[in-house]
Amino acid sequence: MALPDSLAHLPGRHFLFVPGPTNVSDRVLRAMDRPMEDHRSSAFPGFVRPLLEDLKGVFRTAGGQVFVFAATGTGGWEASLVNTRSPGDRLLAVRNGHFSEGFAESARRHGLAVDVIDVEWGEAAPPDRVEEALRADAAHEIKGVLVVHNETATGVTSDVAAIRRAIDAAGHPALLYVDAVSSLASIPFEFDGWGVDLVITGSQKGLGLPAGLGIVCASEKALSATADARCTRSFFDFGDMARANAGGYFPYTPALSLLFGLRESLDILFEEGLDNVFARHHRLAEGVRAAVAAWGLTTCARRPEWVSDSVTAVVVPEGTDGAEVVDIAFRRYNLSLGGGLGRVAGKLFRIGHMGDLNELMVLGALAGVEMAMRDAGIPVSLGTGVGAAAELYAGRPS
Ligand SMILES: *Cc1c(COP(=O)(O)O)cnc(C)c1O
Repeated sequence: MALPDSLAHLPGRHFLFVPGPTNVSDRVLRAMDRPMEDHRSSAFPGFVRPLLEDLKGVFRTAGGQVFVFAATGTGGWEASLVNTRSPGDRLLAVRNGHFSEGFAESARRHGLAVDVIDVEWGEAAPPDRVEEALRADAAHEIKGVLVVHNETATGVTSDVAAIRRAIDAAGHPALLYVDAVSSLASIPFEFDGWGVDLVITGSQKGLGLPAGLGIVCASEKALSATADARCTRSFFDFGDMARANAGGYFPYTPALSLLFGLRESLDILFEEGLDNVFARHHRLAEGVRAAVAAWGLTTCARRPEWVSDSVTAVVVPEGTDGAEVVDIAFRRYNLSLGGGLGRVAGKLFRIGHMGDLNELMVLGALAGVEMAMRDAGIPVSLGTGVGAAAELYAGRPS
């Protein structure tokens, strides 16, 4: 078998089905293909102000404040923590996969003490255990609760509103920190409605841009916590950003091309309508799950109410290797899938289905997944998954 060194050697369109970066639409690509301009010109605020305002619509917040950093989701984690916390502060983090562990580790590296609620990978964040831990903290030493809305490593979506209810039921003042990197603009997210205090996303997932923006939205309660927060911050300081943004500027050179792309991405999302975007992701995900069932396989998510509409983690049979499926898909079929991360390495592979995507693209990817699984020694009857998904997609009123 010829082994291509890079995508440049593979003919035809590449099928990008990793859970980030996602496909960048032609419209967004064209919008970014523009000369640079002066980010200190008197015209620039006319571009920045509506951009920041419209972003609030994606988070579904009226009172929250949005911060756009030249960073990624990982930078967003850091920004949310260093602006609101002091070294030694205690946090409560739910750990149910690779990314929730990363969020907690970011806190530890900034000198925060993290109490971890460990659950099986494949399970969602447990509101009852969060409530129990907060009730036990009568002195209110715990300053924040860290939850990943959509754990990309396992394809599990947690009920953020239920976590908020748990915090309130315990009568606890902890701030609610939510990683929505792989859910925002793909899966319903309600900043105000769910009482979120800090939420983090990146540009390369649901927003359908290249990586390079770390976006954070902060509630009034979170902003008031910045006054006493003593963690060291410089680049990620909310205060510097807020002061510059108030005039329609940035405290440093913004990632202009990405901002041009973001403008187009928001226009596209609003043209389709956010609720239609969520419905499309749900429908596409249902097709992928129908395929998994038709193959006789299971998702890593252990309960139907936890399955993610933006990424599906498929558990491979004992004795077979998910990493091999990923490598064969890439080399033979020009299809990129996600591998298992951390403790689920080899045990599963992941199909990302978020962003600029439609039914036929998903069916093409599922055909590639079937062939790659067959080639990797997983017994699968070719066409069964594709057929099951197509049955689900066909006949939808247009
Ligand atoms: C991708 C991802 C991240 C990491 O974001 P980067 O942009 O790669 O830094 C964090 N959390 C979740 C849930 C993710 O899916």
